[in-house]
Amino acid sequence: MNDEIAIHWFRQDLRISDNPSLNFLSEKYDNIVAVYILDEVNCDRKMGSASKTWLHHSLLSLNEKLNNKLLVFKGNPEVVFNNLVDNYNVKQISWCRCYEPWIIKRDLNLKKNLKNKVQINSFNSSLLWEPWEVLKNDGSPYKIFTPFYKRGCLNSKPPRKPKSQEINFFNHNIKSQSIFDLELTSSKFWEKKIIKYWNIGESFASKLMNDFFSIGIQDYSEGRNFPIRKNVSRLSPYLHWGQISPHTLWYEVSNIEQEVGEKNAEIFKSELGWREFFYNLLYHFPKIQKFNLQTKFDKFPWENNNSFFDAWKKGQTGFPIVDAGMRELWETGYMHNRVRMITGSFLVKNLLIHWNQGEEWFWDCLFDADYASNSASWQWVAGTGTDSAPYFRIFNPVTQGKKFDPTGEYIRKFIPELRNFPLKYLFEPWECPPNTLKNFKLGINYPFPIVDVKTSREKALDAFAKIKVN
Ligand SMILES: Cc1cc2nc3c(=O)[nH]c(=O)nc-3n(C[C@H](O)[C@H](O)[C@H](O)COP(=O)(O)OP(=O)(O)OC[C@H]3O[C@@H](n4cnc5c(N)ncnc54)[C@H](O)[C@@H]3O)c2cc1C
Repeated sequence: MNDEIAIHWFRQDLRISDNPSLNFLSEKYDNIVAVYILDEVNCDRKMGSASKTWLHHSLLSLNEKLNNKLLVFKGNPEVVFNNLVDNYNVKQISWCRCYEPWIIKRDLNLKKNLKNKVQINSFNSSLLWEPWEVLKNDGSPYKIFTPFYKRGCLNSKPPRKPKSQEINFFNHNIKSQSIFDLELTSSKFWEKKIIKYWNIGESFASKLMNDFFSIGIQDYSEGRNFPIRKNVSRLSPYLHWGQISPHTLWYEVSNIEQEVGEKNAEIFKSELGWREFFYNLLYHFPKIQKFNLQTKFDKFPWENNNSFFDAWKKGQTGFPIVDAGMRELWETGYMHNRVRMITGSFLVKNLLIHWNQGEEWFWDCLFDADYASNSASWQWVAGTGTDSAPYFRIFNPVTQGKKFDPTGEYIRKFIPELRNFPLKYLFEPWECPPNTLKNFKLGINYPFPIVDVKTSREKALDAFAKIKVN
């Protein structure tokens, strides 16, 4: 039997269907070996607690699909591959590209150092358009979403069509570490949340997509703004980990455009476009995870207030829509997009806390925590990014609650203390006359608001005016 092997290196493409690297290898080789490497040597940022737990379960699910043949290692990929290449007849290593700056740097080095020993190929599997393909006419990157998407993406060549084929994984006897050796499940807390709220793996991603495309998408254009409605897909963690490709979503939604309405389908596609935009920004401005894209904000007088930050993290700010969002995050590892914007704006603009702190917290708690989307969205919310909500546009947490949770169901779902609170005062409990509710006392059962909306807004605008003048 031919003992030549080809290695597919799984990274953020934890799926077998529509995987361009696997498709490529299976056309050339009989013996494909699958490898996962947890690289904490080269990374500039360790995975958050929720992400680690998601990854652990994803690897278990993938390994099951591969009949327990997934090779798992912890360490520097270059060392791992050198060992494999030196001990087995490895002809080729192939992977799907990632765009985090530290991964780009590591992969370039790896290619350079291994190219004399083995063939190496990489493929795009997670973006509809490569960041270097969508540029302005003068060759510079887009900084504003609408021209990026409409003029850039939609005028480029269409995304590749998804393609799935039978992959024959090699029945090898190569030894590796076990998934449990990666020590990804130290957080029993997130373990419980995953089991309670999510089903992990490629087949569940497809099922979720099918369920969403048969019902939820039908009122996507309107309903996606209301956190209690089932009009968003909740596919973001699966997209982040590559358990489904954006290409599959793009073409599946195109196929049902007539049934679900062109507007719903187009808006869903443009949300995938936002994801592309943020990867494009990350690729061209690789420091966005930490540094303001608009450098004038480097002088902004952020406040260091641990008790405010703690209240925000715990959902104890006294503003029900903010607290419901923060508790949704803590309870489920997910937060609805509208509420991400409200909670983010509140942290940055009403509490004057640096967006880096919010970004870090989301990074730790989100199952979809994503280097590009998280940092670029925080910059968008803070007004420090390229195409951002202007700094002076400050969400009012009371009116946002009334508008996007008009029945109060979302607030009541995540804040049990307010379950019986009258709707009239639900968005601003401090306005409720005392003794309206038996056994409820503001300040005891639910906090007083930690800031005054009007004065905190004015303070933020003053601070902004100062950096504008300077
Ligand atoms: C402060 C803040 C932090 C965020 N952090 C992340 C993050 O770490 N990871 C992440 O994937 N998204 C992040 N987002 C974007 C957005 O909130 C989520 O992608 C969305 O809520 C995911 O839910 P869904 O899958 O139900 O979305 P759907 O509405 O069903 O959209 C389908 C897919 O399109 C993409 N998408 C939708 N809206 C956006 C958007 N506004 N920006 C970028 N992509 C979008 C997502 O991949 C999503 O899964 C953040 C937004 C904010 C305001």
